[in-house]
Amino acid sequence: MQKLLKLAIPVLGLALLTYSCQKDRSTDLAVDVVPQEVIDQLTHMGFNPDGIERVEEGYRIERDIIITDEFLNSKVDRHFVPNLEQYSTNNLVTTNGNRVITMYAPEGGRNGYSAGMIAGLDLAIERYNDENLGISFQRISNSNQADIVMTRLKKGDERRGVLGSAGFPTASGDPYDEIKMSGILESSYGLSTEGIATIIAHEMGHCIGFRHTDYFDRSISCGGGTANEGASTVGANHIPGTPTGATASAKSFMLACTDGGDRPFNNDDKTALNYLY
Ligand SMILES: [Zn+2]
Repeated sequence: MQKLLKLAIPVLGLALLTYSCQKDRSTDLAVDVVPQEVIDQLTHMGFNPDGIERVEEGYRIERDIIITDEFLNSKVDRHFVPNLEQYSTNNLVTTNGNRVITMYAPEGGRNGYSAGMIAGLDLAIERYNDENLGISFQRISNSNQADIVMTRLKKGDERRGVLGSAGFPTASGDPYDEIKMSGILESSYGLSTEGIATIIAHEMGHCIGFRHTDYFDRSISCGGGTANEGASTVGANHIPGTPTGATASAKSFMLACTDGGDRPFNNDDKTALNYLY
């Protein structure tokens, strides 16, 4: 127990530290790099643009959600107002009863993942497959045939504590096709296989249409002041059967912020997964 605490405290400390660093840096980026019209457009679409960052795929908001330039340029007039919670996006993955989503992650080397990271990915896949949903996941060894490719974040992002990022399903019913995941969760943060699986399962959740359980007030898991991420044009639809009122203690895998610990699917997560798929 003593040993666990010793591990947990530096991880949490680092997460909070890098978050505040990121906030500062994001503010700079927002001024220097993100054009005001993009911020205006995202605001118009109903997103909270605080902390927006320019990344190669487009823009990163809410620390781990990718808004592509293509999506940003799409004409969308619908404007959702958030009210309840445990939420999905408007677009979901089309299953036609049963769909296998293939995933690829490079192994080893400077741009690949350690055995521990791959074990985390395999455990995340196992957690989904254990639910016997209309979707299942399978790791394959050919990136060209994968529905979702997991690639390393930029080294600078990994060093400053970004854990991962992903986007939402496409209008045509496919999962978002890329998870950018830190490769140093085991080596630098000392996370367990279960902790790594939790973070990867979270990003997989975004790819199939999950929003943050506490998107309406991310301070529930992140601390700090009340902060609504905005329902936006991607939607934040309450999933029937899930409670109204997220708590950090319920440890949903889709909470906005993590302490690096293990968050297997809780009963509400399972209800949501089974409702959507
Ligand atoms: Zn997230």
